Amino acid sequence: MIKRSLFLLLVFAAPVLGQQNPDFHRDFPPFKIAGNLYWVGTADLSVYLINTPQGNILINSDFPEDLPQIKKSIGQLGFKYSDTKILLASHAHGDHDAAIGIMKKETGARLMIMDADVAETESTAPGRPGAKVDRVLHDGDTVEFGGSKLTAHLTPGHTKGCTTWTMQVDDGGRKLNAVIIGSPNVNRGYLLVGNKNYPQIADDYVKTFKVLKSLPADLFLGAHGNSFGLKAKYEKMKSGGPNPFIDPAGYKAYVSEREGAFLKEWERQKQNPGSAAP
Ligand SMILES: [Zn+2]
Repeated sequence: MIKRSLFLLLVFAAPVLGQQNPDFHRDFPPFKIAGNLYWVGTADLSVYLINTPQGNILINSDFPEDLPQIKKSIGQLGFKYSDTKILLASHAHGDHDAAIGIMKKETGARLMIMDADVAETESTAPGRPGAKVDRVLHDGDTVEFGGSKLTAHLTPGHTKGCTTWTMQVDDGGRKLNAVIIGSPNVNRGYLLVGNKNYPQIADDYVKTFKVLKSLPADLFLGAHGNSFGLKAKYEKMKSGGPNPFIDPAGYKAYVSEREGAFLKEWERQKQNPGSAAP
C-alpha cells in the first residue's frame, strides 16, 4: 500500500503540483508580441503562435483542459486552429506538452521534438502526450516554414531535451532577436548529484547557462509567463510606448539569477549527497 501510494505520488506529482497554480489555467487575452509572433497561452503557460502565409507554427500545447482557451485565443486573433502546420515544444513536461498529441490529431500538424525529449513525448504514461514525433531535431537544427526560421538550441538539465527556441522577428522593418527559454529551473525533487537516471544533469545545466548567455536577446520570452513578467509587460504594452517585451537587460538578469540559484543548489547537494532539491 505504501509502495502504491509512493508510485501514485511520483506519477502524478508534476501535474497535481501544476494544477495548484491558478494562473496555469486562467484565461489571458491573446496578443501580438512583435512581428508575426503572438501569445495564445494562458496567464502563465506559454503557447506561441508564429503566423506565416503557409499556415501557423505553435510552440507548446499546455494541458488538455487549456485547449478550448487556446483555440478561442487563436480565433480571436483572426487565425484558424486548423491552419496549424507545425508543432514544437519547450520541453517534455505536461504543463507544456500534455495536449500536443490531441493538437496533432486535430490539425494534422507535423510534430518536431529535440532528440533527447522524443521518448518522453511519445510516452503514453499518465499525463504524457503519447504523440508520434514526425521530425527528430538535433541541437542547432532549424525549422524553416513560410518565410520564418526558428532555431532549436539544446538547453538540457530541466529535461534531457529541453529546447530554447530563437527566431528573428521582422517588426515593421526592425529585426528583433526573440529568445524563448526552454527552462533553466531546478525543480523540486531534482537530484543534481548522484542522479542514476541522469548522471550528467549538473554538467547539462552548466552547458545550458553558457548557451543562454551566448544568445543575442531582444525579445525576452519563456515557457512560463511568470518567468518574464507577462502580465506587467502586457499591461504596459496596452498603455503605449516602447514594446516592453524588448528587454535585453531583463533577459540577462534573469539568466544570471537562475544560474546563481542552480549553482547554490548544486553546492548544497554536493555538501548533502542524496538530498534532492527542495
Ligand atoms: Zn518543466
